[in-house]
Amino acid sequence: MTKKAVIVGAGHAAAQLAPSLRKQGWEGEIIVVGDEPYLPYQRPPLSKEFMSGKKAEEEILIRSASVYAKQDIRVRTGQRVTAIDRRQKSLILNHGETLAYDKLALCTGARARKVSLPGSELAGVCYLRTLEDVKRIKQRVSTDSKVVIIGGGYIGLETAAALNNLVLSVTVLEMQDRVLVRVTAPEISEFYRRVHTEVGVAILTGVTVSKIEGSEDTGVSAVVCDNGDHHEADLVIIGVGVIPNTELAESCGLAVENGIVVDEYAGTDDIDVVAAGDCTNHPNDLLGFRVRLESVQNAVEQANTAAANICGSKKSYSAHPWFWSDQYDLKLQIAGYNLGYDQVVIRGDSKQGRSFVAWYLKQGKLLAADCINRPKEFMVTKQLLAKGLSVDVQKLADDDLDPKQLLVES
Ligand code: FAD
Repeated sequence: MTKKAVIVGAGHAAAQLAPSLRKQGWEGEIIVVGDEPYLPYQRPPLSKEFMSGKKAEEEILIRSASVYAKQDIRVRTGQRVTAIDRRQKSLILNHGETLAYDKLALCTGARARKVSLPGSELAGVCYLRTLEDVKRIKQRVSTDSKVVIIGGGYIGLETAAALNNLVLSVTVLEMQDRVLVRVTAPEISEFYRRVHTEVGVAILTGVTVSKIEGSEDTGVSAVVCDNGDHHEADLVIIGVGVIPNTELAESCGLAVENGIVVDEYAGTDDIDVVAAGDCTNHPNDLLGFRVRLESVQNAVEQANTAAANICGSKKSYSAHPWFWSDQYDLKLQIAGYNLGYDQVVIRGDSKQGRSFVAWYLKQGKLLAADCINRPKEFMVTKQLLAKGLSVDVQKLADDDLDPKQLLVES
C-alpha cells in the first residue's frame, strides 16, 4: 500500500516541505491541509508590496496550482484539522472526515496576538497576519482615512510605510519608549523614528492605549491613550506580536514549550511526527540555546530538514537566522541573532544618512548585524558568522574599508 504523508497547515513551511519530500524521494501520497481558503502564499508582502498595491494576489503565491499538480501534491484548502489521534495515526477534520497518515508534519504557524480593550471588537479594528486581514484593511482604506497602528514592531512600521501615501494620516502608537525595542539597538529605533517622521507619519512612544471609541453603526472613530491623548481613526491596525499555533500538538500529547518542541532533525517525541516553521521551538547549536523563530528562512530550512527526516535521512538544522524588512526606499537585512549583545558598532551615518550598519557584539564576538541599504555588509556578515571568524571593532566601524576585507583575519 502506498504511504501517506499529511502536512497540517498550508503556509511557508508546508509549501517547502511538500516539494522537498518529493525531491528527497518520497513516493507515496502527499496531502497538505490548510484552513485558509488559499494556496500557500507569502506573508512578507502583506505588510509591504501587497498592502501598498504594488503586488497583486496572484503574485504572492509561493507556487502555482500547476506546480503542486505536477508533483502529485494535493493541497486541501479551507479545511481545518481539529484533532490528532497518534495511536490510530489519523486526523479529524472540521467537517468530520477522518484522514489517516503514515507520516505527519505540523506546520501550523502562528496567529496574531489579540488585544482585549474596550472597543477592540468594533468594525475597523484589524489585525495583520493573513491575506483576508489585509483584504479587509484595504476595503476600508481611502485617501481620507485616518489610520492608527498599535504596535511599533516591524509589521506596524512596514504597514505605516506602505499606507502613508495612500491615506490622510498614519499614527503609530508604541507602549515602549522606542520602536523595535525587542529586536534592535536604540540607534536603529531612532533611525526609523526619524525616517517615518520626515514623511509625516506620527510615531508616539511610551503611550498605552486604554480604549477604542466608536459605534456599532459606523465602527471605530478614535483611539484613546492612558495619558488622555485622543487620536481620531477610521481604521485601527493592531500589530502586537503572534502566538504559535500549538494547541493541536498539545492536545495529542506532544511536548510544547513556546512552540512545539522539536530536535535538530525537526522531529518531535513521536517518530512519525515532525514539525517546522513558526510553530516550533528548536535547539540551535550555533546560537547555543533553544529558539522559536518567526521568519521565512527558518520555515524553509527547517521544512527541508523535516522532509529529510520523513524520508529517513538525518539532516541536522542549525542556522544563523536572517530576516529582512522593507520600508520606503530602505531595505533592512538582518544577519544573525542579537540576543544578549553588549556592544553596538555603527558603520556609516545612522543620524542623517539612509545607508549604514549596526553590528552587535557580545564580549567582542560578533552576534548579528542590521544592514540598512548595505547588501555587501549583509553578505559579509553571513560569512563571518558561518565561518566563526573574529572581528576587529575598528575595521567594522571603518566605512572606507571594503567589507570583504573583514573576511581577512588579522
Ligand atoms: P504560517 O505562514 O503561519 O502558516 C501556517 C498555516 O497553518 C496558516 O495558514 C494557518 O492558518 C494554518 N493552520 C494552523 N492550524 C491549522 C489547522 N489546525 N488546520 C489547518 N490549517 C492550520 N518573515 C521574514 O523572514 N521576513 C519578512 O519580511 C516577514 N514579513 C512578514 C510580514 C507579515 C505581515 C507577516 C504576518 C509575517 C512576516 N514574516 C516575515 C514572517 C513569515 O511570514 C513567517 O515566519 C512564515 O510565514 C512562517 O511560515 P509557517 O508555515 O511556519 O507559518
